[in-house]
Amino acid sequence: MEQTTTERLHIVEGTDWKDAAIALMESRCPYRPWRYGFGEMREGDPVAVVLNTDPPSIMTTLGRIGIDGRSDRAVIEWPYPGPTLLDLTTLTAVVNFPHDQDPRNVWMLRGDAAIRLELTLKEAEYRNDSSMRYGHSSVAAARILLHSEGRCTGCDSGIDLTWWDARDHAHIRTVDAPLRHPSEVLIQDKKGWASYVEGPFNPKSWLLPELPSDWPGVLCPRCVTRMEEDGHATLLDFRFSQHPKCPNCGAGRTQRALYGMPAMHIPPWRDVRGCCVMPETWTCAACAHRW
Ligand SMILES: [Zn+2]
Ligand SMILES: [Zn+2]
Repeated sequence: MEQTTTERLHIVEGTDWKDAAIALMESRCPYRPWRYGFGEMREGDPVAVVLNTDPPSIMTTLGRIGIDGRSDRAVIEWPYPGPTLLDLTTLTAVVNFPHDQDPRNVWMLRGDAAIRLELTLKEAEYRNDSSMRYGHSSVAAARILLHSEGRCTGCDSGIDLTWWDARDHAHIRTVDAPLRHPSEVLIQDKKGWASYVEGPFNPKSWLLPELPSDWPGVLCPRCVTRMEEDGHATLLDFRFSQHPKCPNCGAGRTQRALYGMPAMHIPPWRDVRGCCVMPETWTCAACAHRW
């Protein structure tokens, strides 16, 4: 019978994690941050990338051993919208690996353990949303860097990651995780009927997008300087400052129209409008005016 399942899964470790993330995004980068095991490696074998973030993390996208049979040069097909990372300690606590097949300690998983890890990572790849990039841990920072795909979040241009100083060219900005929405207040009348308290009805507020207070991203050196000189406290303010102010209400919260069907990960300075292209370029996120 033809063997279709994974027999072996190799692990490569990227230390330092920032160098490793850069090397993953830019093949011309001179960094060689990889540690790996030896043993039988066949073309097509899956390779999982572990980074020495705190806590250690594992990339959801697997590489494959190429024709050279080397795990440190595995071929990775970059998914949309970029790979993310899972906390390896939690993953190991949730997935039941045999004692001698713990992905934190070994360089190769075999049989059942290899299949379990591959399936878990595959499933998690689809759960990559913007909340994965909140907080200030190095795992969040590494996710932000991988998500950037080497582009500056401040100006959308590519960051030069081809030289030894690449790590100094990518300035990662982490942000606080937003608070959970306050729950609605439940009141009871004399008869014991419960109802929810509603705020004053504002029909326009239905049209307004809910903007976060800041946005995680990676900045090129030019944008770091510009942001500092112009005195912007948040990356969100910096992005909005590059758009015209609203002619209707004067707010500096103008989004640029984005046509087409983008699936997810839309930054708050873009307004998703579907496929019908309209003459207006701008949307005010404060009063819903378009022009
Ligand atoms: Zn920039
Ligand atoms: Zn406005």
